[in-house]
Amino acid sequence: MELEDINTVAVLGAGNMGHGIAEVAAIAGYDVNMRDIKDEFVQNGYDQIKWSLGKLAENDQLSEEEADAALERVTPLVDMSEAVADADFVIEAVPEKMEIKKEVYTELEEAAPDHTVFATNTSSLSITELAEVTERPERFCGMHFFNPPVRMPLVEVISGAESTEETLTLTEELAEDFDKTPVRVHKDSPGFIVNRILVPLMNEAAWLVSNDEATIAEVDSTTKFGMGLPMGSFELGDQVGNDVSYHVLEYMHEVLGEAYEPAPLLEEKVENEELGKKTGKGFYDYEDGDGAQIPSDQQSEFVEERLLATMANEAAKLIGGDVAPPESIDEAVQLGAGFPDGPVKLVDDYGLETLHETLEEAYEETDHERYAPAEYLAERAERGGLYESDGDSDEVDFEAIRVEYPGDRVGHIVLDRPHRMNTISDELLEELSAAIDLLEDDDEVRAILLTGEGEKAFSAGADVQSMAGDGADPIEGQELSRLGQSTFGKLEACDLPVVAGIDGFCLGGGMELATCADMRVASERSQFGQPELNLGLLPGWGGTQRLKHIVGEGRAKEIILTAERYDAETMADYGFVNDVVDNDDLQDRALELATDLAGGPPIAQKFTKRAMLAGRDDTEAGLEYEASAFGHLMATDDLMEGVMAFMGDEEPDFQGK
Ligand code: NAD
Repeated sequence: MELEDINTVAVLGAGNMGHGIAEVAAIAGYDVNMRDIKDEFVQNGYDQIKWSLGKLAENDQLSEEEADAALERVTPLVDMSEAVADADFVIEAVPEKMEIKKEVYTELEEAAPDHTVFATNTSSLSITELAEVTERPERFCGMHFFNPPVRMPLVEVISGAESTEETLTLTEELAEDFDKTPVRVHKDSPGFIVNRILVPLMNEAAWLVSNDEATIAEVDSTTKFGMGLPMGSFELGDQVGNDVSYHVLEYMHEVLGEAYEPAPLLEEKVENEELGKKTGKGFYDYEDGDGAQIPSDQQSEFVEERLLATMANEAAKLIGGDVAPPESIDEAVQLGAGFPDGPVKLVDDYGLETLHETLEEAYEETDHERYAPAEYLAERAERGGLYESDGDSDEVDFEAIRVEYPGDRVGHIVLDRPHRMNTISDELLEELSAAIDLLEDDDEVRAILLTGEGEKAFSAGADVQSMAGDGADPIEGQELSRLGQSTFGKLEACDLPVVAGIDGFCLGGGMELATCADMRVASERSQFGQPELNLGLLPGWGGTQRLKHIVGEGRAKEIILTAERYDAETMADYGFVNDVVDNDDLQDRALELATDLAGGPPIAQKFTKRAMLAGRDDTEAGLEYEASAFGHLMATDDLMEGVMAFMGDEEPDFQGK
């Protein structure tokens, strides 16, 4: 079956998750049969969809008509046969009990057509075991949404022992069509990816407190303000529900062994029915107390190392066990839990060898299996990290750009198509994206310099010729715009400071690229402009959105609507160019500025950029980020270095620690 063949989706269960999944499918244009066991349950789910669609329309995320049409597509049903007789794809979201689910699948198998694919939204049960109840284990897989499905972008797509590639691909395509990001989980392993990382982390936090090695305040201060995670461990636990974490953990304990023994503190919370926010009390008191009040100044290096070591061990088990590669783990946890960086990147950056030693020491001291280092962890610790970056992987071959290392900690990207005025082709976009990754991952690089080869142009825009073939179809045109938007967005969101050195033409797409640098230096002879409207187009690589943040909306409209050429001095007056220099000095001066920025404090630079970007359209979010970053910076060595250098009137030597 192909994606086009799916017209009707049946959702079993109209509870928390079921109604949300039904809503997402209906918004994406599918006919949805939503089934629950009683009229009132299914009606309640339907009412919640109606309410939620109303909210989306109120916030302009959907038009009134789209919201009405989506609701029209949902049919609430109680009869199983009616619900699935014409369904091409069934998503099951009934209670998390093996017996209930097995009964549902037995009934479903009877009632559903042969071609129909079954997907379970289970968080922790064995997909293989559920599939065995049916006669189609090859057309059966996991499709794990996050709560609430309307807002959460991640869907874990999990292979059961017999799921075919076709089933998995189709499920991923369907998730994408629902406007979600699917991440493949190659094995039906407890907790899949996100819970496999989060739940043992929560458990280790609870062990630390159970064993009097740390307090709740220290753990949460460290996770939230030290490690920069979106919430404290216990704060998150209370939000998720201690019964839920405990339940998943028990399942891991049963299947994966002693390493997952629930900590006494967690057990106690469940026994006392202190389940978190939903019962008014958990690790924090939400009824009689002030809820999760987390101090920013009780961070502990010891706690951070233990928690990161736990995370490293779980990640290594997932990678070594072929459940998921590092990229998938990072993507899933970033999307599913809002981590600023993925767990694999976090532990690699911290130092896998150190974390391996932390585990070994703790294992020796306590003899508890949770500290036994995974074999794969030991193996990778010696090789520098869980990401496969052996020294010889510098073999990235660039054609449209060059990457050079001209001096002190500066990575230099040169747009290298002088014969075509350094215009931007598909290939150049792809290479630029790879180069940004390369430089960001390189510990020796602290700033990026971006220039164009030759004296004629920084970049004269999009390579219309190479793209002309793509252009006629509106969908392809849209994709082209998105590709440029996202590649340039990556440069804009890059953690390193970026300087654009502009010599010659800086037009159209070239100007949109320069807009994504943090600072711009230009030679006197440079010329700027967004000529797109002259061609009956618009600046489609972020031009309508990003330019205004630098020159203000008034000037941005002027530049775009007049489609005029501007000289460097005028662009300096408008605030676009930070410094205009002699033509012959451009290269040196741009490198000088990049080198200067490369000497700055990397963590503070990173947080500054992120806070400004987070707050661009949402000042509250930016301020929240700023406060938490500030807390984090208070505990860095760089702060001490900066203060000491300031007092001694010397140049600081920031280590990024
Ligand atoms: P829920 O209790 O809110 O909803 C379950 C619904 O299924 C109820 O309305 C119930 O009446 C109905 N039901 C019971 N038997 C049924 C049957 N035979 N046929 C059809 N419907 C039946 O539970 P939930 O939180 O929506 O969880 C559903 C599933 O999604 C579980 O497998 C859970 O593990 C998983 N999940 C939950 C979350 C979460 O955060 N709540 C996140 C991801 C996945």
